[in-house]
Amino acid sequence: MNGRRDLSALPKVHVHVHLDGSYPESAVRDLARRRGLVFERPARFADEWQFFDAYGTVPALVQEADDLAALCSALVAAEAAEGVLYLEPSIEPQLYAPRLGSIERVTGIIIDALQEGAAAAGIQVGANLTINTDQDEEIADELTDSAVAFAGRGVTALGTAGFVEPAGLGRFRSAARRAADAGLAVVAHAGQTGGPDSILEALDELGATRISHGVKAVASTELLQRLTAEGIVCDVCPVSNVALGVTPSLAEHPARQMIESGVAVTLNADDSLWFDHSVTDQYTVARDVWGLSDDTLGAVAANGLLLPALDAATRSVYEDSLAAWFTASPG
Ligand SMILES: [Zn+2]
Repeated sequence: MNGRRDLSALPKVHVHVHLDGSYPESAVRDLARRRGLVFERPARFADEWQFFDAYGTVPALVQEADDLAALCSALVAAEAAEGVLYLEPSIEPQLYAPRLGSIERVTGIIIDALQEGAAAAGIQVGANLTINTDQDEEIADELTDSAVAFAGRGVTALGTAGFVEPAGLGRFRSAARRAADAGLAVVAHAGQTGGPDSILEALDELGATRISHGVKAVASTELLQRLTAEGIVCDVCPVSNVALGVTPSLAEHPARQMIESGVAVTLNADDSLWFDHSVTDQYTVARDVWGLSDDTLGAVAANGLLLPALDAATRSVYEDSLAAWFTASPG
């Protein structure tokens, strides 16, 4: 029988979180109002293109450094309220640089706001500086410069992202190597729209240590075994996958099979502003739709401890919180 322990009290990492698509709706509404606009979120997206168009409207509201800092602070507070002990947003300073300055300056604005928010909320925050695979190697180099400059000072990962996953991640190989040499995690979007080959490319061409999505791995038993054996963490986003047509329904979502195969899965919201589901809601799906027991949900949450970016204090609080969650009687 499934337990009913409080999932918002379950300690979590939240590490597949696109900053610009994850600000709390109230904070975005406030900013839109100050610009004389009204923020609206469609109940559903006809296709991914409608989603991308909508996605760009939020960064466009940001005109000043303070706007961006306020959105970042609001995000950290909201995530802490969901039981998130380690938050690692994917940040794309290039979206704000045309109005706020250089990529390095915007990275600094975001990092400062995230770190201040984290100190206030009593959680740890990192940042995954993310290259959009639509972009060219020149911007990728500039982003990598910034990631390396902020390594150990708030940036914890270099990522690649893009809904369409064309072959050719290898063109970011030198960026990934520089990031790894600077001690950063290398995190690649793969296995969302691309098949198992896209995941293999992320592992073999970029040396990715984490995969954003990775759900198409279930098409290959051999790949599932490799992900498990190598301890590759897959940051999976169930509600997003259904909203963007990656998988037909929550009931058919591959995460359950990944978890049963032994793959280290984390559950994430991807873009909580647009899909209107928090990180906790993903665990609720895992319980109510997939029928995962509290033991399994706790084991999934414990996968957060596999992330090397967690500092000793966070690790200790995380372990204590997990133990307390299991000790609590199922409601
Ligand atoms: Zn994503």
